[in-house]
Amino acid sequence: MAVSVQTMARAEAMALPRAKAKSSRLDDQSLQKMVDKLRNDLSILEVVGVTIVPDNPLMLSVETMEGRGGPFMISVDESFLSELTDEEMHSALAHELGHVWIYTHHPYLQTERLANEIAMRVVTRASLVPVYHKVWERLGTKGDLNEFLGNGQ
Ligand SMILES: [Zn+2]
Repeated sequence: MAVSVQTMARAEAMALPRAKAKSSRLDDQSLQKMVDKLRNDLSILEVVGVTIVPDNPLMLSVETMEGRGGPFMISVDESFLSELTDEEMHSALAHELGHVWIYTHHPYLQTERLANEIAMRVVTRASLVPVYHKVWERLGTKGDLNEFLGNGQ
């Protein structure tokens, strides 16, 4: 659940062939469909790809290949994906697209809270709560939901 700017070399390395996801029902293609729909709903014009990777220490992240204009690539940790329901995955992708929206509109305002405010234009707060619990469980940390999602009022 983070945004970073990485070099082309790193981005290309990520695109190398890899083992297919085995445990999850969702594959690259079905995730891409979710991303395209969310991108449309959030009026994000830039190209955003999504790929399942064997290991993403952040569980989910988005990076730009060439700066503000994108294209952007969302990387999803394979085993984390298998722990999420489709709805939770959909909301997690909305969160990452929130980062893209900020990056292309107000790049200096990049925060988790604002990414969620953008995401909550199209998904519910309730659907993001279990995503945070699962991320924190995997990372062995614990945060304040109200800090990340607002108090729900
Ligand atoms: Zn994030």
